Amino acid sequence: MPHLYLHVPFCVRRCSYCDFAIAVRKRIPAREYVDAVLRELEMVRAADPGAATEGPEGPKKSFRVPRGALETVYLGGGTPSLLPPDALATLVTSLLDAFGATSSRDAVEVTAEANPEDLTPELARVWRRVGINRVSLGAQSFDDRVLTWMHRSHDATRIATAVRTLRDAGIDNISLDLIFALPAELERDWERDLELALSLGPDHLSLYGLTVEERTPLARWISRGAIAPPEDDRYADEYLLAHVRLAAYGYHFYEVSNACRDQRRSRHNSAYWSGRPYLGLGPAAHSYDGRARRWNVAAWPAYARAVAAGRSPIESAEVLTPEQRELERVYLALRTDAGLPVTALHRPPLPSTARWLERGWAELRGERLVCTPQGWLRLDSLVRDLTEPAVVA
Ligand code: SF4
Repeated sequence: MPHLYLHVPFCVRRCSYCDFAIAVRKRIPAREYVDAVLRELEMVRAADPGAATEGPEGPKKSFRVPRGALETVYLGGGTPSLLPPDALATLVTSLLDAFGATSSRDAVEVTAEANPEDLTPELARVWRRVGINRVSLGAQSFDDRVLTWMHRSHDATRIATAVRTLRDAGIDNISLDLIFALPAELERDWERDLELALSLGPDHLSLYGLTVEERTPLARWISRGAIAPPEDDRYADEYLLAHVRLAAYGYHFYEVSNACRDQRRSRHNSAYWSGRPYLGLGPAAHSYDGRARRWNVAAWPAYARAVAAGRSPIESAEVLTPEQRELERVYLALRTDAGLPVTALHRPPLPSTARWLERGWAELRGERLVCTPQGWLRLDSLVRDLTEPAVVA
């Protein structure tokens, strides 16, 4: 059941907090990009994944490309909505064809990330026609002052317009991204932003706390004292407030940062969180076959040059050790509402597990240990508590 990720690296500017692998371009080289991704897919398939075993040439040769009926496609970035409609149509149609899938049924979940200002009625109609049935909108805030500070290229009114445009085109599975825990000086009203987001009735919300990444405008502002770094207390308060407000509207957090209603979970991201294999195409895209992980060069020019010359764009690869796989399994399980089977816990149970239960940071649901919102705030330390003895042993 392959899950396919495409990294579309282009953005019109860099947001103040963003350290993603992007290429800022006024003119989007859409044709070159689509040709490169389709060529990469051909190369991946020609590399005979099926019978590969780990050999002297190392993990690059031992990667098994996921096979079978396509289950999800995710166009992330960067800004996929910057691809003109015809280029996007060629890309999605060719990929679905390559995997023997059709756009006429919604058996395949096809998600595209979009910035609100790009969503014209024409673009939305083309997206729907070629099979895109889920859109993740980068809303981030409904406060124009905050959006300007973030270097976002839309204003607040464009978010509601984009949601209407998508629904008019027949795309009703809509997710909104919001960022919380902004520096205090901004006086951002998080509750108001949540209410405005909820008033649009999205099926899904992704809420991310602001983190300060190196080499971003935000990191530079903080290092020269122009703005104070985000505070941990604000992070916790706003995160817990989001749980309360979203629950009041019938949303359920099924993962530490993601909530939905009517079970409209992201099938693609759920595949990542349950450790299923996926194939990534495009610059900086990662792939995983259940045992080995590999990733492409991040810079668009280097990626494009490699593929055009018929060379693999893979930058590196690693085969996960059993300890790494165990750590990842515990971490991913505890990120979600599925939790960790208690049978996977140590025997006898670690004292730390009991401590977590006593403090209300985790609870037992049947045979599974599941984090509470308070526990999700401490996820890294819970995972450390549960795994470090095993790693040492
Ligand atoms: S639009 Fe998204 S990917 Fe592009 S710079 Fe902003 S946050 Fe980063």
